[in-house]
Amino acid sequence: MNDQIKQQRILFVDASLLNQSDCWRKIYYQLILGRVPKDSVEDFKMAYGTAFHKFLSARFNGKSFKECLAIAEEYYSPFNDNIPEGEYRTLSHLIKSCRAYVETYDKQEPLQSDFVLNDKGEKQAKVEQTFAFPYWQNDHFVIMLSGTIDFSGTYAGERCLVDHKTTAARDEMFFYRFNFDIQPMFYVWIDNYLNMRGDVYLPFLVNGIFLKKPSVKAMNENRWDGCEFRRSPLINYSITQMHEFSSWMENKLNKLCKFLDSGTFMTMEKNFELSACKEIYGSLCKYFSICSLSPERRAMKVEASFTDGIIYEPLRFQK
Ligand code: SF4
Repeated sequence: MNDQIKQQRILFVDASLLNQSDCWRKIYYQLILGRVPKDSVEDFKMAYGTAFHKFLSARFNGKSFKECLAIAEEYYSPFNDNIPEGEYRTLSHLIKSCRAYVETYDKQEPLQSDFVLNDKGEKQAKVEQTFAFPYWQNDHFVIMLSGTIDFSGTYAGERCLVDHKTTAARDEMFFYRFNFDIQPMFYVWIDNYLNMRGDVYLPFLVNGIFLKKPSVKAMNENRWDGCEFRRSPLINYSITQMHEFSSWMENKLNKLCKFLDSGTFMTMEKNFELSACKEIYGSLCKYFSICSLSPERRAMKVEASFTDGIIYEPLRFQK
C-alpha cells in the first residue's frame, strides 16, 4: 500500500487546464512534463493580480485599509524589483489602485461575503476558498480537481459566486464571454457538486479591475486614472447549459484518464512532428516555439528556453 502511494504522482486539473484540453500536446507539456517557458515562471502580471486578490481577501475579512495594503505590498514588492523598464504595473500603481477600489465601493458595497469557522474556531470570510479532491487514479497517477473560488456570498442580496479579474483588456465584450466560459462554469459546477445542490446552480459575477498606464494629464491634475472598476451582471447558467458542461468535462477527463492509463505519452516526445494546429495563426500557444520544431531541435530549444519538471500546481499562488 505504501509503495503504491509513493509511486503515484498527483496531477492537478483546474479550469485553466480544462481550457487547454483541446490539445493533447499542451496537456502533455504542461501537466506531464511540467514544462514552463522560463520567462513566465513567476510573471509579475500574475503577481499583481494575486496581490490585488490578497488585498480584497483581507478587506472582506474586516481588516483595516492599512493592514490590507501591507499584505498586498509585502507580496508584490519582490516582483516590483524586477519589472521591465517602462512597465506601468509598479508597486505604486498597485497601491493607488487598491485605494481607488476602496474609494469606489466603500460607501455602497453590494458584495457581502459568507462566513465560515476556521480551524481555530474563528469567523472567516468565505473568500479565496481552495479545493482539491481526487477524481480518478491508477497505479501511477491521481487526478485532483482543483481551483480557488474567489468569493462566495451575496450581491445586492442574491446568492452568488464571484471571480475578481485584474486585466489590461479594454474590449467591450470582456464580460460577455463569461456567459460561455469554462472557468466560471467549472466553479459553479464544483459549488453545486460539493454542496449537493441538485439542479440549483448559483449565479456568477465577475468583479472587473481594469488596469492601464495612468495618463500624464491625470497625473498633472493629481488624479488617478490607472484603473477602472466595473462588474458584470449576475450570470445565470441554465440547467441545460450546466448539464452540457458536466458531460463535456466528464468526456475530457475520461480521455485524460485513458491517455494516462495507456502509457502512450512515454514515447510521445521523440515522435512529435507538428502536423496540424489550430492556434498557429494567432500564435496563442506558449508551446508553439517548441512544438513546431523537429524532435532534435526541440530538445535544444527546450534546454534554452523552458523549465522542465515544474509540477503544475494551480493552488501555489494562493499560499
Ligand atoms: S502549438 Fe498547437 S499543437 Fe502545439 S501544443 Fe500548442 S496548440 Fe497544441
